[in-house]
Amino acid sequence: MEKQFSGGKILWLVTGDITRVPADAIVNAANAALRGGGGVDGAIHRAGGPVIMQELDQIRAAQGGCPTGSAVVTSAGALPARFVFHAAGPIYRGGGQGEAALLASCYSTCLRLAEERDLRVVSFPSISTGAYGYPLEEAAAIAVDTVCRHIERDQTRVREVIFVLFDQGTHDAYARALQRLQPAVE
Ligand code: ADP
Repeated sequence: MEKQFSGGKILWLVTGDITRVPADAIVNAANAALRGGGGVDGAIHRAGGPVIMQELDQIRAAQGGCPTGSAVVTSAGALPARFVFHAAGPIYRGGGQGEAALLASCYSTCLRLAEERDLRVVSFPSISTGAYGYPLEEAAAIAVDTVCRHIERDQTRVREVIFVLFDQGTHDAYARALQRLQPAVE
């Protein structure tokens, strides 16, 4: 499924493994400690190789971890990308701990990092909806809404955002969120 924006900009929803999809920046659903983990984080480190963790070691030495809702940048090793943006998503604790704003901030921070580097194509996994337990429908709405608001702006240089969703259920939740944003289309 896709949504087109003015100037040829486009948002894609695809099912698959984010480590296999070429992009300028691949976003990782990391953790605040930046020490790697399971899920998509593990897959990115396995596919990208040790250089990513070596760079995270340096970032950790310089600034500690990564605040929840923010992101840090490394190179992408063997991944089909120039950069990995490691976003620290919120752990879901019932929804009253600012989780929605923190999740939106992960997406907007990564898009800002892409603009700063003049990147055209950014891929995202479904941040926080695995081990971090964020309810899928709510997380999908936040993700899709935040990304659409960004790429519909005239001044954005990001041309393409790809949500790479690992399983059909996650893909379908994002598709519903996108349809809710554009009820008159498709
Ligand atoms: P979090 O801790 O932020 O919840 P997880 O990695 O546990 O992160 O899960 C986030 C999402 O990433 C889940 O939908 C999970 O199925 C998905 N995922 C796991 N591996 C991959 C992968 N290789 N490519 C894309 N998505 C993945």
